[in-house]
Amino acid sequence: MSQVHLYEVCLRDGLQNETAVLPTPFKLALAQRLVDAGFVDIEVTSFVRPRWVPQLADATDVIRGLPHAPGVRFWALVPNMRGLERAVEADVGHVATFLSASETHNRKNVNRTVKESLSGLGKVVESAKGDGMGVRSYISTAFGCPFEGEVDVERVLSLALSLRDAGADTIALGDTTGMGHPEQVKRMLERFTEAGIPLEDIALHFHDTRGTAVANAYAAWQFGARRFDGSVSGVGGCPYAPGAAGNACTQDLVHLFERLDGAQEVPEGFAPVTGVDLERVAEAGLMLEGALERPLSGRYHEFWKGDRERQARTA
Ligand code: MG
Repeated sequence: MSQVHLYEVCLRDGLQNETAVLPTPFKLALAQRLVDAGFVDIEVTSFVRPRWVPQLADATDVIRGLPHAPGVRFWALVPNMRGLERAVEADVGHVATFLSASETHNRKNVNRTVKESLSGLGKVVESAKGDGMGVRSYISTAFGCPFEGEVDVERVLSLALSLRDAGADTIALGDTTGMGHPEQVKRMLERFTEAGIPLEDIALHFHDTRGTAVANAYAAWQFGARRFDGSVSGVGGCPYAPGAAGNACTQDLVHLFERLDGAQEVPEGFAPVTGVDLERVAEAGLMLEGALERPLSGRYHEFWKGDRERQARTA
């Protein structure tokens, strides 16, 4: 089976949706754990205004303190040109932009119309590409909006085409509140490929809010998609429902893809399909759970923890 490319978001998307503010040294230790676990694409922080997201107010210190890790791409989220300038100053090589496909969500998130966001981000993407940076562009609420409901696939496609015209390397389709379902995922990918966007330029960013993250990932995988975002142990609750699940759990995805490759269980060490060491990912999840002082919701995380406790009792 071909390689699945995981993009790890726990340090940014995960932490920005948690109430706890974790200290910079902890984040840097976690980044080191993620590198050791085999991740090559890690989104580590965000250059939004510190006032908006206090959890990530230490963005510059995080970027400057990152471990030396040849071959690893560290990414930062940037909301606008000012954010890009701060990212360039901090010397991060890869940036991600974001907008929502639905008006209400975009308005609530960045206080702009989608058209205003798109025109601003076009310049951000062009400028970042001009500086030789890697660029991914998130489209949030691509599979449904918590305020408006259904989102037209043509609307999502047209945003994706504009962002690609500006130079975005990857379009990350975000199921922001976990409303998407597997058939919808296939239809979206079908429409995108028809319109000339290759699958290798599309990443799927699923949420498990309603328990469909793995089903949606499987549908996308069946269609031929191989880029998936995950968050260790599912860190990053749903911002609209405190306590509910948020991001797709990375370990759930690793388990799924390795099993689809025919493994009876995920092999020890760096697994062949995803390239990550599941045991080390699970341990990073435990470390995060301890720091956040709340139980994390990833299914594999829960299973692994229970298994470990049982083993400790019988030992
Ligand atoms: Mg997310």
